[in-house]
Amino acid sequence: MNELTEQDIEQFLLQCRQVVGETFVLTGDDAMRSYLTDYRQRYTGSALAILKPATTQQVAELVTLCNHCQIAIVPQGGNTGLVLGSVPDQSGRAVVLSLLRLNQIRQTDLVNDTITVEAGCLLQQVQQAAQAADRLFPLSLASEGSCTIGGNLSTNAGGTAVLHYGNTRALCLGLEVVTASGQIWDGLRGLRKDNTGYDLRDLYIGAEGTLGIITAAVLKLFPRPASYATALAALPSVDAALALFHFIRSNGKDCALSAFELMSAYSLTLVQQHFPTIRQPQLGAHPYCVLIEFSSQETAEVVTGALESVLHAALQKQLIPDALIASNLTQSGEFWQIRESISEAQKAEGKNIKHDISIPISDIGHFITQTDALLEQQFPGCRMVTFGHIGDGNLHYNVSAPINSSVDAFLREQNAINRVVYDSVARFSGSISAEHGLGALKCDDILRYKSPVEIQLMRSIKQALDPNNLMNPGKVVKPLP
Ligand SMILES: Cc1cc2nc3c(=O)[nH]c(=O)nc-3n(C[C@H](O)[C@H](O)[C@H](O)COP(=O)(O)OP(=O)(O)OC[C@H]3O[C@@H](n4cnc5c(N)ncnc54)[C@H](O)[C@@H]3O)c2cc1C
Repeated sequence: MNELTEQDIEQFLLQCRQVVGETFVLTGDDAMRSYLTDYRQRYTGSALAILKPATTQQVAELVTLCNHCQIAIVPQGGNTGLVLGSVPDQSGRAVVLSLLRLNQIRQTDLVNDTITVEAGCLLQQVQQAAQAADRLFPLSLASEGSCTIGGNLSTNAGGTAVLHYGNTRALCLGLEVVTASGQIWDGLRGLRKDNTGYDLRDLYIGAEGTLGIITAAVLKLFPRPASYATALAALPSVDAALALFHFIRSNGKDCALSAFELMSAYSLTLVQQHFPTIRQPQLGAHPYCVLIEFSSQETAEVVTGALESVLHAALQKQLIPDALIASNLTQSGEFWQIRESISEAQKAEGKNIKHDISIPISDIGHFITQTDALLEQQFPGCRMVTFGHIGDGNLHYNVSAPINSSVDAFLREQNAINRVVYDSVARFSGSISAEHGLGALKCDDILRYKSPVEIQLMRSIKQALDPNNLMNPGKVVKPLP
């Protein structure tokens, strides 16, 4: 990239202001800080400016300007990503392009069961728009009040509803994209069938802003479930959880299994310690527990009856030692609160080393047994906080320092611990990033775990769609030096 003079930069910023207006080009440390710092506040990058367009046309004009000046662009939605994908590097030569002002719901089509929304709409806004039309947009994340649909698509976000509805990719029918050269691709087709060559939509989904900028999307809507039933079941092992999962899928009558979430006993202990006001049902001392949710178009009695019947059968077959079905919505909310408080409880306990991994479902038990043993052997006393969307094969497999040890010294072992975990993931043909993407955090690690052919194909796609390497450089896959 050619060095820009101060005069070039001033001229560039002037042109940006002409596109979006004075107020929407932010410069200066104070104005830019929140856009430059990642969600977990571990890292602050540097940038020439924050650009805040309000329309697709303005995005296209800004990208064209950046191309002309060879200025790198970091697209940003709600900045809730967890892998340093939405913040710039330290060079200070990139701009952050915030999509938050592209926040219009463009159209709801109830016959096609779709909603067309702009990329900067908050996920919660899309959920509420669907609900206002008596439909469901099922994507659900703990960050839904601040993440955007553009960010969800760009990270192919997962969340708690994947088991029944799939991840974000499965919820999207069409995209509008500003390409890396500044052209607008209108792919806003609400088609469920379209076999007309390479699927460009699927290239941009999950690309973490490295190929172009998503400006709008056509999303699928679903009937709203009329009722839910929730239960907690105690379990002696992860394999027992998997046996129960299989049993419920085979015997769950007409109700959809919409969540199956694993929580280790130690995760529950942490929630109890740090959030003593959250009520935890007494299920006896067992190493694991699962949260099970059924949803249905039938009445609450029908869905609760279906869950009761399948859990009763599981008890009789001795698949589970104990279970409790929520007796009302408040108790159901309490069950979910336990699950959703684990991350915060672990944070309150102290800094830890997180892994968001996926393993073929049938191997999860073996993976945990083997990897726990390897970690204990190399880092004696380390505490495993294991929980996650086990029905999707997705584990949050987090490692905390031994009790009464130096957390800082433990954190210095992060690379060695990652290596043990990721090598084990690779042995089970799993993925080192199930939900959060690669960003800048894992883009070096991935070189070890994808084959040279796969990396080469990814680099070819990047080179073809972003030949000047201006779209979020240094994230996902870096070009060869
Ligand atoms: C409390 C909490 C809970 C979470 N739970 C989950 C979870 O259950 N499942 C899960 O998958 N994730 C989860 N996340 C991670 C995060 O919320 C998701 O990755 C979310 O999809 C990011 O959306 P965002 O708008 O904040 O994107 P950002 O963080 O702003 O950006 C994420 C990436 O997408 C790119 N990007 C953003 N917008 C665009 C666009 N319009 N066009 C092109 N590229 C773009 C950015 O450059 C960056 O690489 C959680 C995060 C938090 C803080």
